[in-house]
Amino acid sequence: MTLRTNPSLLARGLAAVLGLACSLSLAPVAAHAQSGAAPTGAVQLTGMRTWTSPGGTRVVFDFSSPVTFVAPDSGSSAQLVVAVPTPGISAAAGVPSELGLADSAVTAVRPIFDANGVRFWIQLVPGSSFHVFTLAADADKPFRVVVDVQRPGAKAAEEKRFTAIAQGKKKTRTRLVVIDAGHGGEDFGARGPGPVHEKNVTLAIARRLADTLNNVPGVRAVLTRDGDFFIPLTERYKIAEKMKADLFISIHCNSSRRRGRGSGSEVYFLSLKGASDQADQDLADSENAADLVGGVSPQAEDDVVGVLYEVKRNAMLERSQMLAETLLDHMAADRRVESRGIKQAGFRVLKSVEFPSALVETAFINNPREVLLLKNAAFQARMANQLATGVRAYFAKAGISLAPNDSSSGAPAADTGSR
Ligand SMILES: [Zn+2]
Repeated sequence: MTLRTNPSLLARGLAAVLGLACSLSLAPVAAHAQSGAAPTGAVQLTGMRTWTSPGGTRVVFDFSSPVTFVAPDSGSSAQLVVAVPTPGISAAAGVPSELGLADSAVTAVRPIFDANGVRFWIQLVPGSSFHVFTLAADADKPFRVVVDVQRPGAKAAEEKRFTAIAQGKKKTRTRLVVIDAGHGGEDFGARGPGPVHEKNVTLAIARRLADTLNNVPGVRAVLTRDGDFFIPLTERYKIAEKMKADLFISIHCNSSRRRGRGSGSEVYFLSLKGASDQADQDLADSENAADLVGGVSPQAEDDVVGVLYEVKRNAMLERSQMLAETLLDHMAADRRVESRGIKQAGFRVLKSVEFPSALVETAFINNPREVLLLKNAAFQARMANQLATGVRAYFAKAGISLAPNDSSSGAPAADTGSR
């Protein structure tokens, strides 16, 4: 249940509305006073944490079983109270009594327990906007209440940064490769022994690939995320569109938990008509499920936008296939991980028609041999080098010349149909 009413009114008067004692200036009730073993069946707050991104902060509350929260779904305010009216709820051992943040969107998060349940008082930077939602428990995570807070001006600043990258690319006549590290923040991706989390491996390889490409004359590489935070799948390619990317490469790790026993590398490009086989469809479903973590509702597929759109989309699919083949050829040349071939499936992150896109499943994170490689800095660097060589080979095959980075030298780069 959520209240749909004036958020600022609600933030000021939630106590009255709910009949809860809601004096926000109260000293925090020590959560630890109520810590310890919960009576059988009683709900516990088992964790509180935050993730920071360029746009703002995500605050996550873990619960031992599903709860109902009372708060505005979304709005803009200087403070927010999220109430969980579950009598008997307590904090598990180790849950802090307050989260103090030196963050640009959230300044404090404080749970206040009383006989009626718990209220989370969240102090925001004035002008911040927020969105509150729940995430169901899954194999690795408990039931969660999530508050996404967007810093005032963050969206405009990000748009400005994307525009500056697009303009810089035009000015220096460089080719822009957007590297997308799969998962992030609350979305850990697949898991290997250790545990090793996919989101950390993908970021490590993506950073190395970007660094390697940034040393190639005429190429600039930019990451969709350069930190541990979540970005919805559609947003990932939209960021690349705003930056006027020439290529989009999403980095992932496979897992046999969702694919049967497995090993090796494979590279995907978009399928409009379903997957190469059921296992590939299962993988795409699993990767596409990342959006659930973002509180992003499943959306209908885009409508067909006409003949010109289809022509553009088909041309881009051909190029995406060439990109996938070229990347895999160069990954396979390393011979440390077998090649499983190029595949097709309906990955949401590959849906742009503005540039060729490929999704690289580097290796299997829960394969005992391959996880050791994925964690290894030397292997990550080799993988990045092979992929960077693949990117250069793709540009050559596609007849796209790479101009020097220095805008004052040389003739304009020939544009052969790419952007
Ligand atoms: Zn993944």
